[in-house]
Amino acid sequence: MTAMVIDGAAVADKVVAKVKEATAELTGKTGLVPGIAVVIVGEDPASQVYVRSKGKKAEECGFKSVTHRLDESTSQEDLLALVNELNADDTIHGILVQLPLPDHIDEASVIQAIDPDKDVDGFHFINVGKLGTGEIASAFVPCTPAGSMVLIKEALGTGDYSGLSAVVVGRSNIVGKPMANLLLASNATVTIAHSRTKDLPGLCRTADILIAAVGRPEMVKGDWVKPGACVIDVGINRIPAPEKGEGKTRLVGDVAFEEAAQVAGSITPVPGGVGKMTIAMLMANTLASACRDAGVEPPKY
Ligand code: NAP
Repeated sequence: MTAMVIDGAAVADKVVAKVKEATAELTGKTGLVPGIAVVIVGEDPASQVYVRSKGKKAEECGFKSVTHRLDESTSQEDLLALVNELNADDTIHGILVQLPLPDHIDEASVIQAIDPDKDVDGFHFINVGKLGTGEIASAFVPCTPAGSMVLIKEALGTGDYSGLSAVVVGRSNIVGKPMANLLLASNATVTIAHSRTKDLPGLCRTADILIAAVGRPEMVKGDWVKPGACVIDVGINRIPAPEKGEGKTRLVGDVAFEEAAQVAGSITPVPGGVGKMTIAMLMANTLASACRDAGVEPPKY
C-alpha cells in the first residue's frame, strides 16, 4: 500500500475534543448550555442505534440532550406540533428529525418546518441556499460533507484547493451536491458525476480529489484513481461475508480500497473513515448554533 490512510476516528475525536473544550468555555463564560433535540418516529433498528449514539455524544460534549421517541403511527400534524414546540424552546439550539420517516409523513414538510437557525442537519432550503451562494459562515452545512472536508484538509494540509480538480460521484441533496458546493467554495474545479455520466472511470482519473458517494459496493476501482489523488469514500454498504461464517456480513465503501490504496496519495477506509465524522460534525453544528445565540465565534475544524 502506498496511500496514507486517513484515520476518521482520530480526526472525529479531535473535533469532539474541540467541541467539548469550547462548550465548557461558552458555558463557563455565559452560562449558556448548548441543547440538542433528536426526534425519532418508529422503531427502525438502524435509526435507533444512530439516535442513541447522537444522544451519548451530545452528553459527552456537555450539551443538554433530549430525545423524543414517537410511535410509528404518529400523525404528521403531531410531529409538526412537536417541531414547533422545539423551535420555540430557547434551551434547544439544534433540532434533528431522524430520517427516514414513516411513509404517511411528508419528510420535506417536516424538514422545512424546522427553524433554519436550529437546522443542524443543514437540510432546510435557507441553509441549502446559503451554502449554494457561498454564505457558508452563517449556514448549517450537512454533517457528512462537512466532515469529509475536514478529512481532506487533514490529508492535504490546506483548505485551499486552487488549481486542483475534484470529481464528486453522486448528486444527492445530503451528500453529493453539498460536497460539490464546499469544494467549489474551497477553490477546487468541481465536476459532479452520476448514473448518467459517460466514461465515469476516465472522468474519475482526472480527479486530484475524488469523492465517492454512490451506495454501490466497491464500484470505484484502482485504475479509476489518479496517482497521488486524495480519495474520500462516503459509501457505507453491507455485503455478505461468508468467510466470517454463514449469514455474516461486513461493511465496505464505494471504493475498492485495497486496489485504490495502491494508487492514491491518501484514502479513507470503510469503516473508520467518513462515517465517524458525521456525528462529530453534528456536535460542531449544535455548538455553532449556541455560539451564534451568545454572539461568540464558534471554533474552526
Ligand atoms: P443516494 O441518494 O442514493 O444517491 C446516490 C447517487 O449515486 C445518485 O446521485 C446516483 O445517480 C449516483 N449513482 C448511482 N449509481 C451510479 C453509477 N452506477 N454510476 C454513477 N453514479 C451512480 O445516496 P446518498 O444518500 O448520497 O448516499 C451515498 C452513499 O453514502 C451510500 O452508501 C450511503 O450509505 C452513504 N452515506 C454515508 C454517510 C456517512 O455518514 N458516512 C452519510 C450519508 C450517506 P442518479 O442521481 O443519477 O440516480
